[in-house]
Amino acid sequence: SIEKAKSYLGAIRGASQITISNYVGEAFISKTADSYIDSFEPKTGNLYCKVPLTSAQDVDAAISCAKDAFKTWSKTARAVRSRYLQRIASLIEENRELFAVWESIDQGKTLARARIEVDRAISNFSYFSTFILHEETKARMIDGVALTYEHRSPAGVFALISPWNMPLYLLTWKIAPCIAFGCTAVAKPSEVTSMSAFLLCEVLRQAELPSGVVNIVFGNGAVTGSALVKSQKIAGVSFTGGTATGIQIRKDTATDVYKHLSLELGGKNPTLVFDDVDLENAIATAAMAAFENQGEICLCGSRIYVQNTIYEQFVEKFTEYVSGNYQVGKTVGAIVSHPHFQKIVSYLELAKNENATFNLGSIPDKEPKAGYWMDPVILTNLSTDSAVVREEIFGPVVTIAPFTSEEQAIELANDNPNGLASVLLTKDGARMRRVGEQIEAGLVWVNCWLVRELGTPFGGMKNSGTGREGGEFSRDFFTVVRTLHIPS
Ligand code: NAD
Repeated sequence: SIEKAKSYLGAIRGASQITISNYVGEAFISKTADSYIDSFEPKTGNLYCKVPLTSAQDVDAAISCAKDAFKTWSKTARAVRSRYLQRIASLIEENRELFAVWESIDQGKTLARARIEVDRAISNFSYFSTFILHEETKARMIDGVALTYEHRSPAGVFALISPWNMPLYLLTWKIAPCIAFGCTAVAKPSEVTSMSAFLLCEVLRQAELPSGVVNIVFGNGAVTGSALVKSQKIAGVSFTGGTATGIQIRKDTATDVYKHLSLELGGKNPTLVFDDVDLENAIATAAMAAFENQGEICLCGSRIYVQNTIYEQFVEKFTEYVSGNYQVGKTVGAIVSHPHFQKIVSYLELAKNENATFNLGSIPDKEPKAGYWMDPVILTNLSTDSAVVREEIFGPVVTIAPFTSEEQAIELANDNPNGLASVLLTKDGARMRRVGEQIEAGLVWVNCWLVRELGTPFGGMKNSGTGREGGEFSRDFFTVVRTLHIPS
């Protein structure tokens, strides 16, 4: 409960009224804003927290603070930076349960899911804390005449903007590499889920991270995010969120050629099931890919295509499996917000109007009485042109359709403007490569889902974004490189 979680909060400033405050320099700003955004608890629908709507002027002050800090932080030895990251990782670990409880309250996700994401946030800091220690400078000799080498330096202050579906995990996936590579940050979490970022501010303070290295400002996209992105003082934007917002950020930075842009956007990811699979395993993987975190993961497989020879059997057994294993309040959390709940319901209404078959689930009331709960929905008999099949719904809704050949499976998988992730379920080793290498998606999971190694490139094709994050890809994003030529 919130009361119990509140008692956990202890020393967090301002938390007794749960009014969030910005963290700029190394201080919580007591009066952050003239206006606040209401934040509701997804599991009850109750208002429980006030999020400041940070003005453009206050955003500018935070950026100036980060710019000042950059002068020293960019020259701080990597071993020292590494120790700060380790300290932050340890402090999150010490407060793992506190973070998980609040993430679950704030986002609606199950506590079990929240714990996984807190652990991943810890990994983000520990991974980059060691990555920077093993970096080598690339040098070459040109015919004994000249030595050339690549000199990297931190690029500057970055705007780090994250969405509401995995709040702490995605925000730290940006903060950790940014400061590891010597840059400073002004971060803005989603106004819908600000609590874990607020807790992180306290961790940064306790870690004694030098003033201004990470500043966290709260607010919406139209006022706060937009001011951050448009600032001429930043070196770039690392953004994770919806495709429409990504396009807006591209437009808002179009004339600032120097800005580094990483856009991790939406997905409508296919899961391909071939008839040689072990059906039980395939069903468990496809279900997890569809319904983990209520389907509110950009990587969720929300379009399942099954080879016609096993199609009917798959639909029946998949429905049985999901109804037995994905139960609201136990393994399925609440939808993040009322507007998002209504958006999902609209897609279900559209599916009904298009005469889709609801194999599981039904259309909930658009005005839920207590919390934004929704049973998993499994839809069949929709046209490939349907918006339900083409557009990202970002909820516990999956569509299933048959295919007859490998070529058709690839065609269906690629028949979408997005290209973030995909799942390929088959035992045929040659097909894994043949099909896997033709799917237009930044991530192809073969007989698995959500397996991650933080050094591998992460990002999407087509409308799912530009740029890659992870290991050396994050380094390339947060640094600038100059090549020196020194003759003998
Ligand atoms: P959103 O685009 O509405 O908001 C994301 C963030 O951008 C928020 O912090 C928001 O305040 C801010 N923002 C909004 N307008 C802005 C503007 N004009 N300028 C600057 N900032 C602005 O997305 P959301 O609804 O919070 O998140 C859901 C979306 O995120 C889904 O589409 C999902 O697929 C995507 N997502 C992608 C990934 C990925 O890695 N590719 C990961 C998670 C979520």
